[in-house]
Amino acid sequence: MKVYVNRVFFNTIDHPKYFALSIYFQGCDKHPKCPFCHNKDTWEPFKGFEYDVEALIRRLKEKINAIIDSYDKLAVVYLGGEPLAPYNRKAVFEISKALKEEFSDKIVNTIYTWRTLEDIEAQNLRNYITYMDEGILGPYEHDKRNIDENGNLLFPASKNQKYVKFSRRRKTCMKTY
Ligand code: SF4
Repeated sequence: MKVYVNRVFFNTIDHPKYFALSIYFQGCDKHPKCPFCHNKDTWEPFKGFEYDVEALIRRLKEKINAIIDSYDKLAVVYLGGEPLAPYNRKAVFEISKALKEEFSDKIVNTIYTWRTLEDIEAQNLRNYITYMDEGILGPYEHDKRNIDENGNLLFPASKNQKYVKFSRRRKTCMKTY
């Protein structure tokens, strides 16, 4: 299976608590797009870096193994673009499954999606987030952007987005922050 990725990098901004390895998937299926989207370079599907999913999983395991002992936990963040777009969702499932099976509770699989929990249910996408631990759900809405008095962007990026933990057994929202 092939997947297209815009970029992969370690950072301290994509998760509110843990050092993160972020995978920006290529392609966004939201129509219309979110005004003032910060990731326009990820909109078009089938661009960027083409990976065989198994090869990408091996590469991600190498990256995680290189630093995992330095942290209590590491966030693996799935974003884009849209991880649950039709052309990304199977790869996202396979990657999140493989990494969770390899690293268990040492990693926190975290998905950003414009879809709300209601959208995920209505579109029958729950199986694709089986191995996700957390989600930031809902579109970026610029008029609700989450900034402090100095204009610094807070988490989540817009106040309508829900930061949730998923139940391991049932992919229902357990807790909203
Ligand atoms: S869903 Fe994400 S990538 Fe797509 S337009 Fe909105 S902010 Fe941009």
